[in-house]
Amino acid sequence: MMTSHKSIYLDYQSTTPIDNRVLSKMAPFLREEFGNPHSSEHIYGWNSNKAVETSQRNVAELINADLDELVFTSGATEANNLALLGLARGENRRKIKRILTTPIEHKSIINTARILRDVYGWETITIPVDKCGLLDLDYIEMQLKREPSILSVIAVNNEIGTIQPIKDIGRLSMKYGSLFHCDASQAPTAIQLDVIEQNVDLMSLSAHKMYGPKGIGGLYIRRDIQNQIEPIIYGGDQQNGLRGGTIPTHLCVGMGEASKIIYSKDLQVEIEAIMRMGDLFLNNLQDAENIIKVNGPKFSNRHPGNLNLRFTGLPAQEIISRLQPRVAASTGSACTSGDPEPSYVLRAIGLSVDEAKSSIRFSFGRFTTENEIYEATEILKEVLSQMKG
Ligand code: PMP
Repeated sequence: MMTSHKSIYLDYQSTTPIDNRVLSKMAPFLREEFGNPHSSEHIYGWNSNKAVETSQRNVAELINADLDELVFTSGATEANNLALLGLARGENRRKIKRILTTPIEHKSIINTARILRDVYGWETITIPVDKCGLLDLDYIEMQLKREPSILSVIAVNNEIGTIQPIKDIGRLSMKYGSLFHCDASQAPTAIQLDVIEQNVDLMSLSAHKMYGPKGIGGLYIRRDIQNQIEPIIYGGDQQNGLRGGTIPTHLCVGMGEASKIIYSKDLQVEIEAIMRMGDLFLNNLQDAENIIKVNGPKFSNRHPGNLNLRFTGLPAQEIISRLQPRVAASTGSACTSGDPEPSYVLRAIGLSVDEAKSSIRFSFGRFTTENEIYEATEILKEVLSQMKG
């Protein structure tokens, strides 16, 4: 991968570099086709509008939805807010005032669920997870039997890579007349998404986790529940009144193209190639094996590019800073990095404070090369031996 500085990028779960094919599709919509997609009286507007529709279709296709079920947002944070606050503020036909989430959600769910409780008076229930981050389906069923709820579950975790059994959760949600929101921000590069087969009612996506641009995401809202969502951003009647504001055509085009690249190529081939990078990374660290443990699930239940490692007895912050500027990795979610508290995700899967504080997430992706893995592990080994010494 080309970078302006010499640093090996192993932080794909915080953001992915933009794919050049995506960038070249976006450029004309920043230059000659700059029209406002909501201008309905001239060709600039028509062309821009057409591009937005094509993009919407591409993103919808990625998750097997229809284009009018996809609302563009500024990212998955906004999509998560729109899903949960939209239901709380909206005409909730089922009169649900209860939310079930996991302790390993992204902060945009955790903090929004807190508002549902504190401001809207909802009951919030946390679904237990095991040491791999997998949630307890029996517990969900027990809770749903008691009372229909809004379920909000992260499809693929951003720190430890855990892939949840989305289809089973969706089946339970449907069986008990509940609604299922899924934060799928990290999912498109790891699993096949299909809102029909997986019985998902609302799904959040983020372009910059799948080689698209930052500043755009989307919320799938099943057609027949759209009237139950009250917007959180009011403006003109854009996007069926569900989200006011001028749609950024170039960003939509980027997200559409990023989606298209994923659904039109064999995802499994890319997954296997990326998994090989993780294997290689671990194999190259064999010398340091005695102090290294893998946090999180087995590889079959894990994002192919996620490797969360624990360096027993060594502070992760120091390892990371000694790796600078040669290797870019992180101690957890970028949204909480710089936070002195240990990762709440690692704590939720049972790690002690010390264990959490000695853990680093390395994440690989489409442009990671074997050479980079080799170089990065050599640098890491050198840092570890300095620290042990
Ligand atoms: N959910 C998950 C699982 C994420 O990993 C992220 C990004 N860290 C978000 C939501 C927020 O996405 P965005 O940056 O598009 O707001």
